[in-house]
Amino acid sequence: MTGNTTINYRRFFHELLEAIPWPILIVDRALSVSYYNQHAAHLLEAADPLKDLKLDQVIHDAAIIQLVQESIQTGSSQSREYDKGKAGLSWKVSVIPLGHRSYKTKTEQSPKSAGQSYHYFVIAIEDLSELRRLERVRRDFIANISHELRTPLASVRLLAETLEDAIDTDRENAQTFVEKIEIEVQYLTDLVSELLELSRIESGQVPMMIEPVRAEQLVRETMARMLPQAQRHRVVLRTDITQGETMVAADSKQIARVFVNLVHNAIKFTPSGGMIVIGTTPEVAGRTQRFFVRDTGIGIRPEELPRIFERFYKGDRARSKVDFIGPGGVGSGLGLAIARHVIEAHGGRITAESTVGQGSTFTFTLPVAVQSQ
Ligand code: ADP
Repeated sequence: MTGNTTINYRRFFHELLEAIPWPILIVDRALSVSYYNQHAAHLLEAADPLKDLKLDQVIHDAAIIQLVQESIQTGSSQSREYDKGKAGLSWKVSVIPLGHRSYKTKTEQSPKSAGQSYHYFVIAIEDLSELRRLERVRRDFIANISHELRTPLASVRLLAETLEDAIDTDRENAQTFVEKIEIEVQYLTDLVSELLELSRIESGQVPMMIEPVRAEQLVRETMARMLPQAQRHRVVLRTDITQGETMVAADSKQIARVFVNLVHNAIKFTPSGGMIVIGTTPEVAGRTQRFFVRDTGIGIRPEELPRIFERFYKGDRARSKVDFIGPGGVGSGLGLAIARHVIEAHGGRITAESTVGQGSTFTFTLPVAVQSQ
């Protein structure tokens, strides 16, 4: 902006305001909107153009109007955060008097009278909703971890204290306490390794080794690994394979983990005598292959279904099969969260359907491998 270049200032400032990635409005002392950028029009869902409107026709929030009035009266910048109630919206609103003012006398230097001489006020709105949401997620995450760690640690301490009393006098019970401590320690170890795994997957540190794999092979390997566990818990495990020769693009180790985890859950939530079917079938004009784990277990309540893929979400413990892997079949609530990440990293989807009392079906899709010529 030096030298002889002639600048069209009107256009220059218009473009400048549009270039700022925040909603910006400019109002005069009478709260008439003199200028706004497209971000403001978008955020306020205001009909275009906003021009010649009063501020309260655009921002329907008395507290924000009050903030603007404070800035007009005091001639000073104001800034405050507002929770907009619905759907966790959070805005930081700043009002800045524009330094374009006319001094008439020296007495107008006092803050109040100085305020009188500002004609325009910039209102900048920062949408902090996403930031606040992430903060909430982080807080919940820490609260959940603390809870998950504290409960088994408290039992270990209690068991160790009881063991101390029993060790010389009641050797039989002492042995039981040692076993219980081992179960809790195992649970803690699993929890910590699942947490590490989830955070590594989430941060993209687990590279997927995608290779063409026969769909059938994934099902058969899961069957072989899980059959002993199913038999031990007296549920029938069967396969149902259609076009199993299809090659899918998968990291077979990661997919095997997901599959095993789904079957493990199915066994956990299916009473003795029930049946679990695992299988595969083609989908969407041969571009994706579907895999499923169907059980005749206790099912999942409709209000729980949308939440089961959240990390740490656990259904009512009392509903799982008694004595299944540790007391009350406790799990970390991380298994399905990990499964979702793995499947989505493959470009697939994982979903669940269920009817309480009849059973659940978990389905995931994988892309069919493109055969190189
Ligand atoms: P965990 O099994 O460690 O509790 P998951 O993330 O694997 O955690 O599962 C989350 C919740 O989803 C379980 O606590 C349970 O309530 C529900 N769930 C998962 N699979 C089934 C199933 N096959 N039948 C009934 N409920 C299930």
